[in-house]
Amino acid sequence: MDSDPSISSEEPKVKRSFDQMVFVNRSVTLENIQCYGFDMDYTMAIYKSPDYESLGFELIRDRMVSVGYPHELLRYTYDPSFPTRGLVIDTNFGNLLKVDSNGNVLVCSHGFHFLKGEDVHQYYPKKFIQRDDTDRFYILNTLYNLSETYFYTCLVDFFTRCTRYTNLLKGFQHGDLFMSYRSMFQDARDAMDFLHDSGILKDRTIKNLEKYVIKEPNLPVLLTRIKMVAKVFLATNSDYNYTEAIMKYLLENNLKSGSQKKPWRSYFDLIVVDTRKPLFFAEGTVLRQVDTDTGKLRIGTYTGDLQHGTVYSGGSSDIICDLLDVRGKDILYVGDHIFGDILKSKKRQGWKTFLVVPELIKELQVWDEKKSLFEELKCLDIFLAELYKHLDSGSQEVLDIQAIQTRMKVLTYRMDTSYGQMGSLLRSGARQTLFASQLMRYADLYSSTCINLLHYPFNYLFMAPPVLVSPLTHPRIRMRLHRKPIRVHS
Ligand SMILES: [Mg+2]
Repeated sequence: MDSDPSISSEEPKVKRSFDQMVFVNRSVTLENIQCYGFDMDYTMAIYKSPDYESLGFELIRDRMVSVGYPHELLRYTYDPSFPTRGLVIDTNFGNLLKVDSNGNVLVCSHGFHFLKGEDVHQYYPKKFIQRDDTDRFYILNTLYNLSETYFYTCLVDFFTRCTRYTNLLKGFQHGDLFMSYRSMFQDARDAMDFLHDSGILKDRTIKNLEKYVIKEPNLPVLLTRIKMVAKVFLATNSDYNYTEAIMKYLLENNLKSGSQKKPWRSYFDLIVVDTRKPLFFAEGTVLRQVDTDTGKLRIGTYTGDLQHGTVYSGGSSDIICDLLDVRGKDILYVGDHIFGDILKSKKRQGWKTFLVVPELIKELQVWDEKKSLFEELKCLDIFLAELYKHLDSGSQEVLDIQAIQTRMKVLTYRMDTSYGQMGSLLRSGARQTLFASQLMRYADLYSSTCINLLHYPFNYLFMAPPVLVSPLTHPRIRMRLHRKPIRVHS
């Protein structure tokens, strides 16, 4: 299989390290996968952190100042230690929240001020939010949202501390002008949309690809190997010109010595740009051909057979299956967006899913370094259970567990701050975040990078460990499972 010099295996055959592993929520037999689909941004093209987030932050900040926000905002610069993906903005009160899968508040900040106990209760009487209220609560699901999350925090921080403005419950008063948290949030969202729609962020990225995009030398190797055993497609929301610039950089200017250069499009059986996921997994849009010389779309709807190397725009997941002659369950789709890539492809189309979570590298590293804290937390949990073991509903005894609860809070805080100011992407102490619960539910497999597929043979059985009941419905088992990502045979 390794006849191509570019894919001769240089790695020694040793046990996989944590950062090379693919973790399993539900079993997947790779042998049955007939087609691999890839998203591009943050999946094949990994943006360099924190340079790329800093760029996004500066562009939003400058845009907001250009539409009338105070010049003092220009003093803020991006701090990668603050935001975590998956946080929720409460547009009523301007708070940034970390919540669990049920909407219980785990962490709450107002600007850079972290609220404790009673202060949180004043905003959220039961320390709970109705997160289905998507008008009010906005979930920052993607890695693109990190710069936006941080910018919104800076906005709240600035107006809260600026003496020209009076702090009110739902915003700020300045003379006869009221600025609500909601309008500030909407302005920041609009600024972010402007950066994407106007192409400014993409232009700046393309002008300095070395600075912003990781040139992963194993990507051509992975795609070459997959293409020997299965069909491969690319489905990206980006437009053709941007996709071509990124993929050329990743596949044509990025070869190991001795490898043969070939056009980036030849790595795929099908390329679809402008997919508008998650719409792509439902009714989709009109499928058109892209003129690869000009990047322009051809007029009319494409009705022909699949032609190798042809690039399409729009379409839907159903059309992809027809063109490639595969069924949903034959596809393993690799993406980074829990909602746009993974949740919708799983729920609506039954595709097998592989979620790329770049943060896992840091999560695993901190986990390894701080596992003594978690072990102590686990012991306290068991100790509490033991205390109550011989008591029943007839018992009058009142146990004093305050010291244990205080210690548990201290341990949770120390664990959380080891990840960054907003804590782990996956947990707060022993409780799992909303992001973690969605990852469990919709991603069959997950890993820090798609490149880790290289470390497994294409007939591999990714085996989920047997559990008594679904880990999603039994809190006790769920907690145990989440103390560590589930590892497969290594
Ligand atoms: Mg993406």
